[in-house]
Amino acid sequence: MRVEFLGGVRTVTGSATLLERNSLRWLVDCGMFQGGKELEERNRSVEPYHPRNLSFILLTHAHIDHSGLIPKLVKEGFQGKVLCTKATLDLCEVMLRDSGHIQEMETEWQNRKNKRSGRDGVTPLYTIKDVEKSLPYFQSVGYDEIVSLTDGVKVRFQDAGHILGSAIIELWVEEGGKEKKLVFSGDLGSSGQPIVRDPSCVKEGDVLWLESTYGNRLHKSREETVQELLRIIQKAVEHQAKVVIPAFAVERTQDILYTIGQLIRKGSIPSVPVYIDSPLAISATEIFKRNSDYFDQETKALLMGGENPLDFPEIIYTQTTEESKAINEDMRPGIIISASGMCDTGRIQHHLKHHLWRAESHIVFIGYQAEGTIGRRIIDGAKTVRLFGEEIAVKAHVHTLGGFSAHADQKGLIEWLSHLDNPEVEIFVNHGEEKVSLELSELIRQQFHFKTIVPQWREKRVLFGAEEVSQMVMPGIEPVEKERKEISPSMETWSVLFRRLDRNYKRLHRKLKKGRAREMEIQDPRRLKQLEEINERLEKLESEL
Ligand SMILES: [Zn+2]
Ligand SMILES: [Zn+2]
Repeated sequence: MRVEFLGGVRTVTGSATLLERNSLRWLVDCGMFQGGKELEERNRSVEPYHPRNLSFILLTHAHIDHSGLIPKLVKEGFQGKVLCTKATLDLCEVMLRDSGHIQEMETEWQNRKNKRSGRDGVTPLYTIKDVEKSLPYFQSVGYDEIVSLTDGVKVRFQDAGHILGSAIIELWVEEGGKEKKLVFSGDLGSSGQPIVRDPSCVKEGDVLWLESTYGNRLHKSREETVQELLRIIQKAVEHQAKVVIPAFAVERTQDILYTIGQLIRKGSIPSVPVYIDSPLAISATEIFKRNSDYFDQETKALLMGGENPLDFPEIIYTQTTEESKAINEDMRPGIIISASGMCDTGRIQHHLKHHLWRAESHIVFIGYQAEGTIGRRIIDGAKTVRLFGEEIAVKAHVHTLGGFSAHADQKGLIEWLSHLDNPEVEIFVNHGEEKVSLELSELIRQQFHFKTIVPQWREKRVLFGAEEVSQMVMPGIEPVEKERKEISPSMETWSVLFRRLDRNYKRLHRKLKKGRAREMEIQDPRRLKQLEEINERLEKLESEL
């Protein structure tokens, strides 16, 4: 039994794990890489995924960073089944179509640019047509049922509480007379979120893939976060301003709608227009309404009482571009919710262009902002950002509200892990930025004494079974190390590393420069010592290089 880590390792996007047992190959997740040119280049070549020789894809949930490359694999010859829950299937239909549309639009835009500069044209990763061809391969399975995939391979989907239909995937695989259980946490939700249920517990497992998006952070409580949002909206109303919320079309939009609806119903905020300016979010909200059997008890109870938490009179859905543009002419205070959640594409960019430079506007981030995205640059304090070829000043109030996150924080991840009662479990920490995954991995090692590994992109490992045995009889060779030696770092790894080095160096330099006058003024001997140490370390490093 072998594994190759094809994505979602040392980064949050592109989730994909290739599993191989003899000639049988399958994937868990098949996500798109997002967040910068170099990372996105990985979406171009899907050869390592073996699309033609792949028997099935098990899909944890509909987010594009988990499902976005499926149409590309179908285009390159995949003919197996894609197994997921019914809500994931429904959401994938609209999300993948939207993704195909984005691919087409962006290629068109890029090609116009290329033509003007005399460069060659590019082809889209996939088109809406490719998406249509891929949808018949999807097949839904229910939560909690054990499904046999082939001889000696069984699977079960359990609720991960992250977005509607999201799943933890449990796999039982037999090889060489042994059966082992593999568990993929998928993206794990936080407990107590509206609409979705809390994540299911898993007690047994031999090998675990654990997400680590917020592996080094703690969220504020939901109540505190709602209070914070309430204050922001009140302030905006007082100043006749707008609150702009970039939100992932699926789950974050519905979650924030649920919350704002409650605040309006309770009279905590006045009745202001709430624009949902994302055709995808509109379709997703419809799917939510159709799949109410996936809701948690609280939301079901509201529905039974005749209240639809996703519907209130203040909501204005804007489908067309004209309707979207008209929002800017509405001078009343209000709330604009738009996608994409990380601001790299979609209508949110128009709203940011309209509001980032206005000191009275509020921009509220409620979801994860990956490295390299426009959203990340704004929350990291950029003075300007480039939108539609124009530098836009960031003068608006920028807020980050972690308590609305669809991901468990460090405490939530550790709590979820504490149910596992196999001291021999091997844990691959994935779906997190490198630093964060390493930190969580260390914490798990200290707290539970489990074996943890933060894999590299394209790293291959033998998990168990026949190959493990044949390699173990070779004297002096440790199987995992042998696998490791086969991997030489790619050009991409180098360039990503150099880019980070460059950024860190610039940041340090800026900080030191900024602090120079202040340091001389306060004359703190500890700071002097610290600076001396930095100098020494840099000199030592230079001589070593
Ligand atoms: Zn997700
Ligand atoms: Zn994810």
